Amino acid sequence: MIMEIIVAKSAGFCFGVDRAVKSVYDNISNKPLYTYGPIIHNLQVVNELEDKGVKVVNNIEELRKLEKGKVIIRSHGVEEKIYEIIKDSGFSIVDATCPYVKKIHHIVNDYSKKGDTIIIIGDSTHPEVIGIKGWSTRETIIIENVEDAKKLDIPKDTHLCVVAQTTLNYLKYQEIIEIILDKGYHVDIKNTICRATRDRQEEAINLSKKVDKMLVIGGKHSSNTRKLYQLCKNQCDNTYHIETIEDLELLVFSKNEIIGITAGASTPKNIIQEVITHVRNTERN
Ligand code: SF4
Repeated sequence: MIMEIIVAKSAGFCFGVDRAVKSVYDNISNKPLYTYGPIIHNLQVVNELEDKGVKVVNNIEELRKLEKGKVIIRSHGVEEKIYEIIKDSGFSIVDATCPYVKKIHHIVNDYSKKGDTIIIIGDSTHPEVIGIKGWSTRETIIIENVEDAKKLDIPKDTHLCVVAQTTLNYLKYQEIIEIILDKGYHVDIKNTICRATRDRQEEAINLSKKVDKMLVIGGKHSSNTRKLYQLCKNQCDNTYHIETIEDLELLVFSKNEIIGITAGASTPKNIIQEVITHVRNTERN
């Protein structure tokens, strides 16, 4: 019997991440070149770019001390005020904010200007959510989980506009929306979950149901990879979160096993390929 390896079609870079990484390479000859935060949650790619002279800047204070140059805004996007501060500090901007995230910025900006209270469903510490919040001109509430939604207590005549972090799990989103609707507010619901994330999650869940071992490749700090891992783990006990092939060292793969592989949105194709090759090479009888 030959080991079967099934790689999810949706594994690896999504459209927004691919576009952001390409924008760095397109500008690589225009130094000094900076990215506002790591361009993707993948240490290998960030280190490779650093070797090519692309510096990661974590905040405005750091940027102000540096030689003037171009700053690339990554796919997560940033608060509205950051654009002004970067320009006023004498730097130029290459905006690689994912168009799907940009769309949320516009919704939040428009609806908050109309007087709506903005609700963002997502992780309050995630840069994408911090960026989205920064486009609201008025009160903004972040709901992270079902408990937060249950605790929501604002006047009943409040107009709400609800958006979601693009990488939110759809089932969690639905559960939270139902709780908000049950409270009887006037609410405009904008489902801003990215299809790429949902497709990747659905494919991963289906794949992990039919394999003996499931490998989820991606940065340990990548929230979409961690979510992917959790969804797969719910279906398949033998699910492993792999950042590089070093994480596979203690794993044994045998001939009669079916191995499933998926990867987060920040995982380059070459790392997926390395993992496939490694699994094939460590196959035992
Ligand atoms: S997951 Fe979707 S919204 Fe986020 S960067 Fe990728 S394509 Fe854009």
